Amino acid sequence: MNTVHSLPSYLDPNHLGPWGIYLQQVDRVTPYLGHLARWVETLKRPKRAMIVDVPIELDNGTVAHFEGYRVQHNLSRGPGKGGVRFHQDVTLSEVMALSAWMSVKNAAVNLPYGGAKGGIRVDPKTLSKGELERLTRRYTSEIGVIIGPSKDIPAPDMNTNEQVMAWMMDTYSMNVGATATGVVTGKPIALGGSLGRREATGRGVFTVAQEAAQRIQLELKGSRVAVQGLGNVGGVAAQLFAQAGCRVVAVQDHAGTVFNEAGLNIDALLAHVSTHGSVKGFAPAQTLGNDQFWSVPCDILVPAALEQQITVDNAGQIQARLVIEGANGPTTPQADDILAERGILVVPDVIANAGGVTVSYFEWVQDFSSFFWSEDEINARLVRLMREAFAAVWQTAEQHKVSLRTATFIIACTRILQARELRGLYP
Ligand code: GLU
Repeated sequence: MNTVHSLPSYLDPNHLGPWGIYLQQVDRVTPYLGHLARWVETLKRPKRAMIVDVPIELDNGTVAHFEGYRVQHNLSRGPGKGGVRFHQDVTLSEVMALSAWMSVKNAAVNLPYGGAKGGIRVDPKTLSKGELERLTRRYTSEIGVIIGPSKDIPAPDMNTNEQVMAWMMDTYSMNVGATATGVVTGKPIALGGSLGRREATGRGVFTVAQEAAQRIQLELKGSRVAVQGLGNVGGVAAQLFAQAGCRVVAVQDHAGTVFNEAGLNIDALLAHVSTHGSVKGFAPAQTLGNDQFWSVPCDILVPAALEQQITVDNAGQIQARLVIEGANGPTTPQADDILAERGILVVPDVIANAGGVTVSYFEWVQDFSSFFWSEDEINARLVRLMREAFAAVWQTAEQHKVSLRTATFIIACTRILQARELRGLYP
């Protein structure tokens, strides 16, 4: 389906990974783009992709080199925006896909941003705090030429947090000679961060779950939820589901899977994770094999970990009525088709996890105006924006008889390519 000229020469066509998934998603939306389809190739290659060498001195005196990336997929609608991921499996093509999903996500919620993403190929668990700081600062300096408050604004993603953002903000600021709080979002509150940012992605996941459940007449109270990943996204979402009277029956993380039909005590589980590093060994709960997680009887499934988790191998076993994608890219296009045939509704990542970047946008606006909002105001605005965006996606899906994913892509890619066309080719 993808023509050869759609593939930049630096990608291996046999190992496209998430970028291959993204290209198939673009192919699915193309018939709905009307005259804007003329510009669709714009979406199939990043505007700019930077690979940097990140050398640091380790605590033992040796020098180690890490590979870092910052990809700006599209800047037609505004500065680049998207997180930075530290993970041992990060690759350029993965960061490209994540940056493209940021373009789609930001346009779907109508934030005035393009899409970008960054990453370093490193297992941060193997680094001391000092090494992590040196890695972050050197990486920030290396990508410093393409980021900035009105150019490209990084934020947290997998294995990066408020402290990493503080180091990024400081490094950039020292290099330009002025404190620039608006260069990153997801900062500590004391440095121009926003109230509610840390919980925002999980809160957004919960909000779209409420909206979707209501439309398929699924009563949230008493419903059973299974969550993969208990990090910043899955952990907060699980808490909100539990507070709403749902039973969170299964949780899987990198080390194991726990199950309790009566519902896991999420606060106790989170406390267990913070002392033991994973859900493994949590009681009272049954331990399940990793594959068993997918066939757990539940109403709502929330993949909130890595990409490519729901595949042809397990899509046929899923018992849920609703899949809410907290992670980016958790479902392959083939698995999407299987779920659709089985009548399982998927709320795609590009709308379901947009809460994080939405409050990042609020943080950036607050930094620019140096005027800070209350947490209630932030949460109220977040919920309103997510509900409106979800309603538009739902309506588009009904109008064209397409999945919620394709509907989100229709809205987002139309906005991106409209901007692209209006701006014109220059120089
Ligand atoms: N990393 C988050 C995401 O995937 C947030 C990005 C941001 O706030 O810029 O949406």
